[in-house]
Amino acid sequence: MFSYIDHLECTQCGKTYPHAELSKISPCCNKVLFARYDLQRLKSEGTREMWAERASNMWRFSELMPVQNPENILTLGEGGTPLLEANQLGQKLGMKHLLIKEEGLNPTGTFKARGISAAVSKAYELGVNGFTMPSAGNAAGAAAAYGARAGLPVKVFMPQDAPAANKKESLMAGSELNLVEGLISDAGRIAVTVAEEQNLFDLSTLKEPYRAEGKKTMGLEIAMQLGWKMPDAIIYPTGGGTGIIGMYKGFQELLELGWIEGKPPKFIAVQASGCQPIVKAFQEGKDVAEPWPNAATIADGLRVPGPFADYLILQAIRETGGTALAVEDSDMIDAMYELATTEGIIACPEGAATLVGLKHLLEDGFLKRDETVVLLNTGSGYKYLDLINEDK
Ligand SMILES: *Cc1c(COP(=O)(O)O)cnc(C)c1O
Ligand SMILES: [Zn+2]
Repeated sequence: MFSYIDHLECTQCGKTYPHAELSKISPCCNKVLFARYDLQRLKSEGTREMWAERASNMWRFSELMPVQNPENILTLGEGGTPLLEANQLGQKLGMKHLLIKEEGLNPTGTFKARGISAAVSKAYELGVNGFTMPSAGNAAGAAAAYGARAGLPVKVFMPQDAPAANKKESLMAGSELNLVEGLISDAGRIAVTVAEEQNLFDLSTLKEPYRAEGKKTMGLEIAMQLGWKMPDAIIYPTGGGTGIIGMYKGFQELLELGWIEGKPPKFIAVQASGCQPIVKAFQEGKDVAEPWPNAATIADGLRVPGPFADYLILQAIRETGGTALAVEDSDMIDAMYELATTEGIIACPEGAATLVGLKHLLEDGFLKRDETVVLLNTGSGYKYLDLINEDK
């Protein structure tokens, strides 16, 4: 069996579009397009057990993925990451069931591989000449790798001060590296212009429908790894929000299929104190976020001052009874050490931010110590070793 994709849908007004042509944002509202699947037919023709029998990577969920011909899948083995029990850390915090989804094991060292594999594969299927990719860093590295795998050119645009690892991995994989003065938002504007001028496909977060589909598989995997149950809460380091939006969508699809029961986890967005547009909008009860001025944090993945899908992130948080909070950079670094010393996990600062967030939420009683909580470590600390002193 393969993809049950049926159409694309505007997340603002519900208008539908065909999926068999290259799409970006919705022409009706200029908002995010979601892929929609024929879930009724899948429900009658498939079972969740079919997924368990397949190779452990994100393409095992091919029925809920957009690529129609398996030959078009460009894979480096992304997904199928462990959901680790954090026993020592859990004990230290007095928790019964603390889990860490270890996305640092993905190709190119971060969960960006999932989204980029899905988006590049689908664009390849529909026929493109190459890609542009504005990125705070990790998405560029992934785009470079999957572009190389597709045999298509990639032009990446990242802030000058992006991590060295991201610049080097992009160059190694043969993409054109453009360093931009300013932030990801500035890189984004340039990338779109270059894409239009040179007939390339722009892979900006949520400005095409399929990166979210790749990241959705984290939610499908978490449910599967918990024996087809959902956790009580997922703490997610939020930049553009693709992961929160994708996982929420994945849980909703499983619920609609009747393959899981219960209610989706509380989605908790953690941001950096130096760039917290979603936290501010959440606290002020707003449906959209204002761009955060002078965004600054060591956690490059969180340096997204104006997320395009702000309204979908805020919806996911509110509809699940979650919350949003900001943490300090210095606490993220301490948490990187703590994850390594207690659990042996070399985490990225973004992933470590979720541990800082967890501690705050246990202290103020938002989370209970007997709840099943999943921290998302979105990437490997090996890409950020510059943050670690040799003499600490
Ligand atoms: C991109 C990135 C994030 C933020 O992910 P979004 O889905 O854009 O919110 C978090 N952590 C790391 C390591 C990243 O590269
Ligand atoms: Zn619309």
